[in-house]
Amino acid sequence: MRIVDHFIAGGADTKSDGRMHDIFDPNQGEVQARVPLGDAALLERAVAAAKEAQPGWAATNPQRRARVMFEFKRLVEGDMDNLAQMLSSEHGKVIADSRGDVQRGLDVIEFACGIPHALKGEYTQGAGPGIDVYSMRQPLGIGAGITPFNFPAMIPMWMFGVSIAVGNAFILKPSERDPSVPRRLAELFLEAGGPEGILQVVHGDKEMVDAILDHPDIAGVSFVGSSDIAHYVYKRGVAAGKRVQAMGGAKNHGIVLPDADLDQVVADLTGAAFGSAGERCMALPVVVPVGEDTAERLKDKLIPAIDALRVGISTDDEAHYGPVVTAEHKQRIENWIATAEREGADIVVDGRGFTLQGHENGWFVGPTLIDNVTPDMESYREEIFGPVLQIVRARDFEEAVALPSKHQYGNGVAIFTRNGHAAREFAARVNVGMVGINVPIPVPVAYHSFGGWKRSAFGDTNQHGMEGIKFWTKVKTVTARWPDGLGGDGELANTFVIPTMG
Ligand code: NAD
Repeated sequence: MRIVDHFIAGGADTKSDGRMHDIFDPNQGEVQARVPLGDAALLERAVAAAKEAQPGWAATNPQRRARVMFEFKRLVEGDMDNLAQMLSSEHGKVIADSRGDVQRGLDVIEFACGIPHALKGEYTQGAGPGIDVYSMRQPLGIGAGITPFNFPAMIPMWMFGVSIAVGNAFILKPSERDPSVPRRLAELFLEAGGPEGILQVVHGDKEMVDAILDHPDIAGVSFVGSSDIAHYVYKRGVAAGKRVQAMGGAKNHGIVLPDADLDQVVADLTGAAFGSAGERCMALPVVVPVGEDTAERLKDKLIPAIDALRVGISTDDEAHYGPVVTAEHKQRIENWIATAEREGADIVVDGRGFTLQGHENGWFVGPTLIDNVTPDMESYREEIFGPVLQIVRARDFEEAVALPSKHQYGNGVAIFTRNGHAAREFAARVNVGMVGINVPIPVPVAYHSFGGWKRSAFGDTNQHGMEGIKFWTKVKTVTARWPDGLGGDGELANTFVIPTMG
């Protein structure tokens, strides 16, 4: 059986003989490899290698660090087919979507290639007599990232792309469900000229996460995953004195005003609700048509569009989406559909009990449409994370703004309309972190920043862009006085009051 080893100090670490975790192929429902679950002793080896490598890397000028990033980008592009195939076989998303996963990560690496420019500090000449003030951004030292299963290429690159470019060493703890792509990325970084110990991969579950959160030499932790665990990671990491950003779950709404182009909305919605089997934190699992007429027209167009969706194995070029990640997750999604039914919602298209001919053991869930969902239903309040689209009907614009604004999650939201004023009002007032206007999945480009509000993110800074640079660096401000040395401006006088520049 293939083993996906830890990657420490520039090579495979095979010393662990502890617990192992099965890696499945969700298309077949079969174990295809195993991953060791590391412990505190293993993390200690990674931290030791990081401590040795980091000062030299931080002292390497930013242009040279950027060159390593350029070369890494070139190598990842060259390995794209292999990475996409590896990713699909462990995650289940279709190959084209896996390529997108890698590409969105590469966008952040491209951003990181501009690090010399982004790291320039601030300078004030003559802040006082003979006094200049300047600030510099310095790396934290050792950073760590803990990532979810659903974007095993993009999310690690969000984190390590920026963290390493600013001069940190980085320890990545990827999801134990699909760890091969993150592991391969670390190999490629070494091949690109990255020093040993600067990008390392430790596998594991809660035990490894706790070891990371408690380790005194790890200064910053970035987490992406479900909200309860994000909150736990945030609290434990902050209590240990670390800087922590922890992104959580989501329940994104798509508001459809009566004037929207409904054919375009249906095309956008089917992609955003069912793409990647709905296993995206920026999926659009709730649609809010405004007015009964809009709701009826939308439903009439959605039903045939959903019937036309093709569910297939991840190597099927014609498939719109593949299996979900585990047997437990398939069960969980089907349980949520049952809950919605019990709560009184209408199951318009039912994806439960779906099997794919020739792949009867794969974890497929058919596309599901649920109407007449109301805000008091648990199936509305909680994240389902599957190919399930819920219709929540709103009477008017005010009710449509209130729904996502009051929801416990606040990751993304979209509005579909031809009315510029309504869209502008909506964007300004809605209580959600990322807004799309006629854009169903408003994931910001790499040089802007990604992050939700409310229970979708704990901590103050977002991922990548200038926010990412802020997170992975600390600011030092220097106030320097160079008197003329002639004794003319009272340098020898003592002062016992707080100095001012007046
Ligand atoms: P998850 O919370 O199960 O796992 C995330 C990470 O936490 C993994 O590395 C896992 O090993 C670790 N972990 C699991 N249990 C733990 C525990 N008890 N203590 C400490 N660590 C633990 O999430 P997942 O199922 O891999 O990913 C899906 C979730 O991630 C969804 O809720 C989705 O919305 C969310 N997500 C959010 C964003 C965002 O940016 N807001 C992006 C992608 C995914």
